[in-house]
Amino acid sequence: MKSTFKGGVHVTEYKNTRAAAIETMPAPQFVTIPLSQHIGAPAAPVVAKGDYVAYAQVIGRVENGLGCPVHASVSGTVKEIKTIENPVGRSVQAVVIENDGLYTLSSEVKPFPKPLAETSAEEIVNLIREAGISGMGGATFPTYAKLQSAIGKADTLLINCAECEPFITANHRVMLERPQEIIGGTEILMHALGLTCATIAVEDNKPDAIARLREHTTPQIRIAELKTKYPQGDERQIIYALTGRELAGGKLPADVGCVIFNAETTAAVWHAFYHGMPLCKRVVTVDGDCIARPTNVLVHIGTSYRDLFRYCGGLVKEPDRIINGGPMMGFTQWNIDAPITKGASAILVFSKDFAAKGESRQVPACIRCGRCVAHCPMHLMPQMLVQLSMQRRYEDMKEFNVMSCVECGTCSYGCPGSMPIVEYIRVAKAAIRAAAMKGGEKK
Ligand code: SF4
Ligand code: SF4
Repeated sequence: MKSTFKGGVHVTEYKNTRAAAIETMPAPQFVTIPLSQHIGAPAAPVVAKGDYVAYAQVIGRVENGLGCPVHASVSGTVKEIKTIENPVGRSVQAVVIENDGLYTLSSEVKPFPKPLAETSAEEIVNLIREAGISGMGGATFPTYAKLQSAIGKADTLLINCAECEPFITANHRVMLERPQEIIGGTEILMHALGLTCATIAVEDNKPDAIARLREHTTPQIRIAELKTKYPQGDERQIIYALTGRELAGGKLPADVGCVIFNAETTAAVWHAFYHGMPLCKRVVTVDGDCIARPTNVLVHIGTSYRDLFRYCGGLVKEPDRIINGGPMMGFTQWNIDAPITKGASAILVFSKDFAAKGESRQVPACIRCGRCVAHCPMHLMPQMLVQLSMQRRYEDMKEFNVMSCVECGTCSYGCPGSMPIVEYIRVAKAAIRAAAMKGGEKK
């Protein structure tokens, strides 16, 4: 039987680009590289206007606390360091580089000098940190910190290849085209964790990827099939589906003996170890009814959406909505000149016509059908949370475990009352966090 979890929904897949092989887009004339692309402290610039930078050279560093360095994704000249908005609307510093088109590689880029068997866990953690790798599935948590916290604690390593969001096929293509990188990256992570086995989890709507991974895997790495259901890619649901261990809200996978990494993140670990290459490029699915030629593109970090759309044949309709990530959990973007970051698995562009297809035109109203409660994978009561949020009873929402909401959007999907449930929950969570930071939390 295929592994799965309780709750969830079957969403329309729209995997239009599943057969679109990854294309490498040449970097544009200018790249704008944010110095904060990960959870944690932002990096501070270590270059200045007018400096020459080599491809893959460090341009920003985090001196203290959680965070990882940021690298130049082209060689060229630093034109300016400016403030921009990141995908979730926060102001961050960014380094603008004029590309000289030469891709002159930094002399710092070298394969790790020892064979894997002779490499210590600490050395692997350090090389992942220096390579600037953070979660590429969208979570953007620094990978070295996740690995470090799981060493000696996790008995189960899982690689997340579920890719359950509609439209996104970037990981699917990496599995088909670069399976040895995912398998090799898994071996590096196993070695660091001191584990003798691992599981790569793939939804059963990708039989070709499952077959490719099985061709390349080793007896120590199992390829597990998951039932296709949303949000199967959420790490709590994968852990439950494959181990039966339940992760309570606020707990980390390591608390139940698990550690989980995204497919492309795992491939990035392979590149860092065997080629010394930091994270300067990623695969992005570009889709939506406005895109002339939807496809999967290997993009230099810092490339603007505008340049990416141009590469994909341009926009054929007036865009109504640009989404960074999938339609369920992604973030609406307002700036077509925003840059691609390490966490951007997809950029989707929809016209008004397409966006309206999935939306009821009625005024949102809850009809108490209970569907959202039945489908919530975290076993919450979304309809109750909405009511409390509307009344701004944020403190009361804590009793209904609002902070355990993973913002997967399953409740909003298919709500017959068209209630923007996740938006109400996000507002409440932000208010609770802000109150806690001000020390105004009620006892
Ligand atoms: S699915 Fe929508 S209409 Fe049904 S109970 Fe939940 S919020 Fe109300
Ligand atoms: S309440 Fe949160 S966890 Fe539950 S379905 Fe909605 S968004 Fe997902």
